[in-house]
Amino acid sequence: MSRPDVVIVGAGVIGCAIAWELVKSGLRVTVVERGQPGCEASGAAAGMLAAETLEGREGPYALLTRMSRDLYGPLADELREASGVDIERQTTGHLHLLPEESEFNGQIPPGAELLSPDDVRRLEPAVGPKIRGAILFRGNHWVNNPRLVTAFVQAASRRGVEFVLGSGVEEILREGDRVGGVRGRNVTIESGAVVVTAGAWCGMLHGLTPQLIVEPVKGQMLAVQTIPSVIRHCVYRDEVYLVPRPSGELLIGATVERAGYEKHVTPEGLQWLLTEALAAVPALAQRPVLRSWAGLRPAVADGLPVIGPWPGLKGCFVATGHFRNGILLAPITAQLMTEWVTGKRPTLPVEPFLPDRLV
Ligand SMILES: Cc1cc2nc3c(=O)[nH]c(=O)nc-3n(C[C@H](O)[C@H](O)[C@H](O)COP(=O)(O)OP(=O)(O)OC[C@H]3O[C@@H](n4cnc5c(N)ncnc54)[C@H](O)[C@@H]3O)c2cc1C
Repeated sequence: MSRPDVVIVGAGVIGCAIAWELVKSGLRVTVVERGQPGCEASGAAAGMLAAETLEGREGPYALLTRMSRDLYGPLADELREASGVDIERQTTGHLHLLPEESEFNGQIPPGAELLSPDDVRRLEPAVGPKIRGAILFRGNHWVNNPRLVTAFVQAASRRGVEFVLGSGVEEILREGDRVGGVRGRNVTIESGAVVVTAGAWCGMLHGLTPQLIVEPVKGQMLAVQTIPSVIRHCVYRDEVYLVPRPSGELLIGATVERAGYEKHVTPEGLQWLLTEALAAVPALAQRPVLRSWAGLRPAVADGLPVIGPWPGLKGCFVATGHFRNGILLAPITAQLMTEWVTGKRPTLPVEPFLPDRLV
């Protein structure tokens, strides 16, 4: 293997999106993944691009989410062309039901429309009766996240990115004040730049000092079969959402649990998801359950992503902490990281996302 310009540690959506942007900028890139691409949070996610929220986000984080959502239209075309994979970008919108018992303060967040119960039923006839309306975000979309990871990997490998799979990195190597590459049990790769995208496991790498603390936040989900389809929008009821895929698979998610690194699906988790889902769309009650799973979202203390150079180790960069929005934020993260790695000035306000804030 020839010496790459950049080694990326972890082939989740963040590492794979960065690999694709970096190779397009002309760099030689190797990705080292201990399992398979998308085998952790990025494969477990629901794929929603929720740039607009009921709380009405503002500031640099809101800008980041909206810019990233807007990159998805061109990205879907680019990836189809470069990889042959359709990421199933869906643009019907996200519909937040207002249950009868909900306390709605009448404030409509930016980018939203308030719908009456009759409006909701015209849009989604299968929605349950006990609602006082809904809030529709037409600008919130969704994609098929396992396909997204596949598309990045196929596109990147066709352009020459090397994927070393089944090899865990244990240590980030140091040469003086610079990074020297990475080492694992069965892999050593020298490189002048390393990008750490190991999700909830970033903090376990040796050589990244001071330690980066990333907490795993578990999310349980399940899928039911809906052929023919039952809903056309992503439908939310309180904290539970339903995501219809073109294949007929409908995802129901997700719990938010601080339970360490265990990934069990529990009866309690499923019960909560199913109770809310059936209240939202009663017609799901007799549909076949296809599968259930859980994933670990990477989160840091302030809940914001960590994107930029790692302090005290030249050539080392980190992109993690995307918590509930890593699919949404992958395109903009890849763009920003490519600017950092190639020595350009970032084009966005990046201060709130710099790793320095954590050390
Ligand atoms: C149930 C659930 C639902 C979600 N829904 C959404 C959603 O709708 N929209 C959205 O935007 N986000 C969603 N998310 C969040 C999103 O999935 C994450 O923010 C995102 O996937 C994080 O990507 P990542 O690449 O940083 O991490 P990961 O996907 O976890 O990837 C990290 C990779 O690094 C590898 N790795 C770890 N340690 C090493 C090592 N030492 N050496 C080599 N490789 C290593 C792992 O095997 C893994 O493949 C959801 C998450 C969950 C769990």
